[in-house]
Amino acid sequence: MSDDHPLRHARHISLPQIGMEGQARLARSHALIIGLGGLGTPASLYLANSGVGNLTICDFDRVDETNLARQILYGPGDIGQTKTAVAAARLRAGNPQLQVTEMDQRLSGDELTDAVDAANVVLDCTDNFASRTLINRACAHTATPLVSGAAIRIEGQLAVFDFTKSVGCCYNCLYTEANENLEDCAGQGILAPVVGTIGCMMATEAIKLLLGLATDLNGKVWIYDGLAGSSRTIAIPQRDDCPVCATRQ
Ligand SMILES: [Zn+2]
Repeated sequence: MSDDHPLRHARHISLPQIGMEGQARLARSHALIIGLGGLGTPASLYLANSGVGNLTICDFDRVDETNLARQILYGPGDIGQTKTAVAAARLRAGNPQLQVTEMDQRLSGDELTDAVDAANVVLDCTDNFASRTLINRACAHTATPLVSGAAIRIEGQLAVFDFTKSVGCCYNCLYTEANENLEDCAGQGILAPVVGTIGCMMATEAIKLLLGLATDLNGKVWIYDGLAGSSRTIAIPQRDDCPVCATRQ
C-alpha cells in the first residue's frame, strides 16, 4: 500500500485483525474473479474498494438489460458492451490504485490453470456446473484457495475450500454431475439483493483467506434462505471416490 493513502483504508486499519500490515498485505494480493454477473459484480467491487491491489476479472459475456437489476457495476448505457471492459473501468474509477487484468473469454485448460495459479484466491462467480467443476479442479491442483457462491430464486449458498491445507474436501465432493441442480436464474428468477448478499460474503471470505484469518466456513457450505431470513451451515464430507481429491493425496 502506498503510504499516501492510509486515510482511504482508515476503517480497515482500525481493525485489530487488519491494521497497517494487513492492509499492505491486501495491496500486494491478487484475486481472480471468474464470472461478472450477480455474484462477481458486488464481490469485485468490494475487493477493489477494500484495497486488494490486483484483480483479474474474467467473463465472456456482454451486458444486457436483464442484468441491470442485480449486476451492480452496469447501467443502461453499458448494454451491448463487454462486461470485463465496463467492470474494469468502474473498478478503476472506485480505486485508481487498483491493477485490473481483463480476460474477455471463457477460461479453460492451461489458460485457466495459469490464471488460477497466478492468484492468491479464486472467487467462482459462474452460473454453471461445467465451469465450477473446472475451476475446482484447477484450484485443487494448484493449491489455490477457492470461494464458491451460488444463488437462485430467494436462496443462496457459499462454500470455502482452502486448498493450501493438505487435507479436506472440494466442490466435487459436494456436487457431482448426478446431483447438481441444473436450474438457472433465467428460468427460475432471482431476487436481486440475495445474489448481492452472497457476493458480499464471498468478498469477506476472500479477504480473510488473503489475510490468513481463520474461517469457520472452510470445507462447509453456508445456505441462506432469504424468504425465511434464516441460514444454516453444513460440513461437506470428503467423498472417498472423489477424483479431484484423489489426485491431491
Ligand atoms: Zn473432492
